[in-house]
Amino acid sequence: MTELAFHNSATRRREAFAPIDPEHVRLYVCGPTVYDLAHLGNARPVVVFDVLARLLRGRFPRVTYVRNITDVDDKINARAAESGESIGAITARTTAGFHADMVALGCLPPDEEPRATDNIAPMIAIIEKLIGNGHAYEAEGHVLFAVSSYPSYGALSGRTPDEMLAGARVEVAPYKRDPGDFVLWKPSDDATPGWDSPWGRGRPGWHIECSAMSWRYLGPEFDIHGGGHDLIFPHHENELAQSACAFPGSGFARFWLHNGMLLVDGEKMSKSLGNFLTVRDILQRGAWAGEAFRLLLLKTHYRSALDYTAERLDEARGELDDFYALLARDLPVPEADDALVAEMAEWAMAPLADDLNTPLAVARLRDLRTLENVATVGGSDKAVLGRIGRDWAPQSGQAAAALRQAAGVLGLLAGDAKAWRQGGAADGNAAIEAAIAARLAARAAKDWAEADRIRADLTAQGIVLEDGAGGTTWRRA
Ligand SMILES: [Zn+2]
Repeated sequence: MTELAFHNSATRRREAFAPIDPEHVRLYVCGPTVYDLAHLGNARPVVVFDVLARLLRGRFPRVTYVRNITDVDDKINARAAESGESIGAITARTTAGFHADMVALGCLPPDEEPRATDNIAPMIAIIEKLIGNGHAYEAEGHVLFAVSSYPSYGALSGRTPDEMLAGARVEVAPYKRDPGDFVLWKPSDDATPGWDSPWGRGRPGWHIECSAMSWRYLGPEFDIHGGGHDLIFPHHENELAQSACAFPGSGFARFWLHNGMLLVDGEKMSKSLGNFLTVRDILQRGAWAGEAFRLLLLKTHYRSALDYTAERLDEARGELDDFYALLARDLPVPEADDALVAEMAEWAMAPLADDLNTPLAVARLRDLRTLENVATVGGSDKAVLGRIGRDWAPQSGQAAAALRQAAGVLGLLAGDAKAWRQGGAADGNAAIEAAIAARLAARAAKDWAEADRIRADLTAQGIVLEDGAGGTTWRRA
């Protein structure tokens, strides 16, 4: 198999990847702050790192993928204050909505999904270590990380101290020794969630949450830390400073992987521009929309900026229509240990080893579809085989089986092909099936006018009939 290599944000280089423990890959990705529905930008890292986790699981005996839930945060407190809904109700409802949305996008759950509020004790333990070794100090009920105590501060994001101050929109507070010092713990009043601590009743800052949860589930040093590019500073810079100083000698994450930003219609998504879209907005377009959006995301390399448009979603839907049309044919099923099927599937997904090159992997799925179409009608396709550089001559069904196997690594084409073509609308299907049966009866009775009338009626409802050797099938246009 092709060696794994990823672009490491920490070194700004492509590096060969090997886990610290060859038997066990440990991966941490920052999860959602649960106060509102997931928007399209929130979905991108979830899909990208779902593909990474699937790739790693196919190559290593054990993978532990941890993605947290931030359920204590001032944005949540503000939402509760303005809506009157309790904090517990907001975080429970939003977490359930996030889970449902990500399932609809074809994402598998992470192995561990710790909630910040269940991990206050490890946060306090890390803060105590940092105070103990001179990297943090207490002031007016707050505990702050002293950035001047960590000479490497800024190395991950590659920023100068001035750039960091500008980028962090730092709160100027009289109790800070340095304006760049950031909060590890802050006091809570009676109306705000709080926990007892050596510094009084209070709550954690956001950055310490991820340092504590990655430590608890993966140890002080692990293989890959992922997240959106917008988290590099200050969030990831601060996570790294806290963890490296609390656990001297450990390097925290060996690889940092960051996905690029998501634009909508060429602009940064914002409520004021009217281009703000939630995952729910996309899913409401139809049963096809979750998988089409996933394909749209994977057609762009994860480190590049991605522009979402409704046209690109429709284009992705059309591609899935083509794939599922192929899979809906009842092609011969190859033997389970078919060597050619395995070889073709491995070839198709080999680009993922090269810094998760999903656009090329998707292009290779299209090549497998072409190979299957050629195999079914006979002959060979010189153009496709020339590009592939192999002299494959698959039998009918083999390239389709490879297509399905390969697509599984991308979390695509796992659905029932016939249900896809029928739009998944189970309720309306009985009437359509009955009309098709009536049309077949009319044809059997040579009542062509009635058969044509029924077909025209179905066409008007957006139902396309396809008459073939195996009978009549239908799909939504
Ligand atoms: Zn984080």
